[in-house]
Amino acid sequence: MKPVPKNGVLDIEIYVPGKSRAPDGIKLYKLSSNETPLGPPPAALEAASRTLFDLASYPDGQANDLKAAIAEVHGLNTANILCGNGSDELLGLLCQCYLAPGDEAIHTEHGFLVYEIQIKAAGATPVVAPETDRTADVDAILARVTEKTKLVFLANPNNPTGTYLPFDEIRRLQAGLPGNVILVLDAAYAEYVRRNDYGAGIELVSSAENVVMTRTFSKIYGLAGLRIGWLFGPEAIVQAIDRVRGPFNLNAAAIAAGAAAIRDRAFVEEAASFNAEWLEWTTREIEALGLTVTPSVCNFILIHFPDEPGKGAAEADAYLTARGYILRRVAGYGFPNGLRMSIGSEEANRGVVAALAEFLKSPS
Ligand code: PMP
Repeated sequence: MKPVPKNGVLDIEIYVPGKSRAPDGIKLYKLSSNETPLGPPPAALEAASRTLFDLASYPDGQANDLKAAIAEVHGLNTANILCGNGSDELLGLLCQCYLAPGDEAIHTEHGFLVYEIQIKAAGATPVVAPETDRTADVDAILARVTEKTKLVFLANPNNPTGTYLPFDEIRRLQAGLPGNVILVLDAAYAEYVRRNDYGAGIELVSSAENVVMTRTFSKIYGLAGLRIGWLFGPEAIVQAIDRVRGPFNLNAAAIAAGAAAIRDRAFVEEAASFNAEWLEWTTREIEALGLTVTPSVCNFILIHFPDEPGKGAAEADAYLTARGYILRRVAGYGFPNGLRMSIGSEEANRGVVAALAEFLKSPS
């Protein structure tokens, strides 16, 4: 007899993160994980380094300083906030708390891969809702709700498409769900969105009993390496997750850096403006090369390559990698001919556009 994991676990396809290597001796531009080229705010680095003098002590298991800073900046109560080791951890904990074998959880066709992994790890069944124009389709989601549905995951904006669902649609989705189904709004890219209805999502979470929002410090705050995520929602849900998380799920450097970073609003504003400028430039220049780009509100774009021999995403990826530009293949997300590119530094963005122009001209 050998140990056997519970049903579903061996059906999980291993999550392969974006590549981080260029060939030896070539300058690397890592544009595969939607990280920021601007790094964290300096105050976050200072705060994190101070914690290194006391590594013998456990961190604050409640992450109180971080929760207080988040509450202050977003106008929330700390009782509605829970911090996690990246928002990935919080997505997993939601599944652990609310899903059991026999349950179903819905995610969209091109939704973030971690949903499916965590749903299966909880022993439950993922249900895929098709999209329209690469954007979540509320009617398609609602049509898939059954008595077994316990969670609905919606990344808004979505990774890897960068598409955005207006708030009216989110409200319609929430209104159409039974009260015992939790709507998880994954807002990892929230700070990049420049739509004036976005704040309404926060109000919806604050007023409903069955909506939570997850956020991250990995994107605009430049702290992906420290793993800091947070969730806010009804106290009952926060308390359930609080029971099952690891007692010290955030390390001391993460707590200190996150609290300092979120208070630096000028940094966030500048980073969002930088992104808006280069998102527009990069999209326009890549389209001018004759490639299609899905319109994005995030810090990345999804580039679609033609079905021509020698000119597809695999060949483009190899060509760019050889020159140090590391983008992300997204075949696992249902885009065999797509490459996702994070908006990088000016040098990186210009370099990718120039390399793509050469690639498209080169003999196949
Ligand atoms: N949700 C979405 C939609 C993401 O793209 C990511 C990061 N790739 C995450 C959640 C997880 O982010 P983290 O665990 O770094 O907070």
